[in-house]
Amino acid sequence: MKPELEVQIRACWPNWFGQHTDTSKSLMGVGFQHGDGWFDLLVRTFRRIEPDVAAFNLELSKIGTQFEIIVVRQRFGELSIVAMPTTTEIIIAFLDARYESLTICELCGAPSELHTAYSQTRCTQCAPQKH
Ligand SMILES: [Zn+2]
Repeated sequence: MKPELEVQIRACWPNWFGQHTDTSKSLMGVGFQHGDGWFDLLVRTFRRIEPDVAAFNLELSKIGTQFEIIVVRQRFGELSIVAMPTTTEIIIAFLDARYESLTICELCGAPSELHTAYSQTRCTQCAPQKH
């Protein structure tokens, strides 16, 4: 995703990403590894989990840790978000986002479908390409 869009997300939720610089614990040092078309879906998903994360962080603070998103990437044409630690509600929100990403072009955000031969979710304008 474009750096400008990443900056917007990190500004909205500054404590959710990148506490770990160790790439064995988090891949957020390499950024959001997907196209710009899923930006709005990400924002909607993160807004949805805000109350869950706030409540969860209150609990986690008792044991000296906090919620953290460690991976955001395109995988097999789907948006994959991984957090650690996490809750059932947050996992369900991420699974909903994964499912919805199959209807949104990863590159431009237009209505789209998964092209299984390429494992890419693309609209007709942004037809899938071989890697
Ligand atoms: Zn497109």
